[in-house]
Amino acid sequence: MEIVNTPSPNFDDRALPITMVVLHYTGMKTGAAAIERLTDRDARVSSHYLVNEDGVVLRLVEERKRAWHAGAAWWRGIRDVNSASIGIEIVNPGHEFGYRPFPAGQIVSVVQLTNEIVKRHDIEPINVVGHSDVAPGRKQDPGELFPWDKLAKLGLAVPRPESAHVDPGWSDSAFLLALERFGYDISDKEAAVEAFQRRWRPETVDGTIDGQSRAILLQLLLAYGEGRTR
Ligand SMILES: [Zn+2]
Repeated sequence: MEIVNTPSPNFDDRALPITMVVLHYTGMKTGAAAIERLTDRDARVSSHYLVNEDGVVLRLVEERKRAWHAGAAWWRGIRDVNSASIGIEIVNPGHEFGYRPFPAGQIVSVVQLTNEIVKRHDIEPINVVGHSDVAPGRKQDPGELFPWDKLAKLGLAVPRPESAHVDPGWSDSAFLLALERFGYDISDKEAAVEAFQRRWRPETVDGTIDGQSRAILLQLLLAYGEGRTR
């Protein structure tokens, strides 16, 4: 695919091999403002790629370098998520400035780009995640409107479990323990539950541990096992 080089000075060296993809929304009023910030030395943030609303893809940081997009994070035993991941910023104003559906052409580019990255680095679907999955206490992106099913259909991300009808009846603390075993940071409990729902049951994100949330988590644990414990 055609990629426009727009270099950012904000990167350093990786300390881990590439095993993850982290998807974000930009969360700024315009795409131009986001590009300016992601290439501003003083802002000290970046991503490897940015996908505009019209589907044009920009390369900000070379994949072999460590971009600065995840911040303090944790996923299935990995704490230095920036070292382990490739970060993709998707232009969208986000919850703060008017969260809206991602245009179809933008999603086509996100899917194509993710496909190339996953194939190039042999990344497991369980490690193609949202920023909110790896930093639930701080982040909501790419949010409940992101069409994970488009990635899942191509085997690039884990699909929502279909047979999630057996409620294991866990207590809330047992659910949280299971959530941590699966790979989420649960230090902010309600935020962790919301992040889980935003990814796996986006039609109701209320932070309440209910039977459907328990059933989905049970199916995921059975299918994908435990992430490494911290
Ligand atoms: Zn983000």
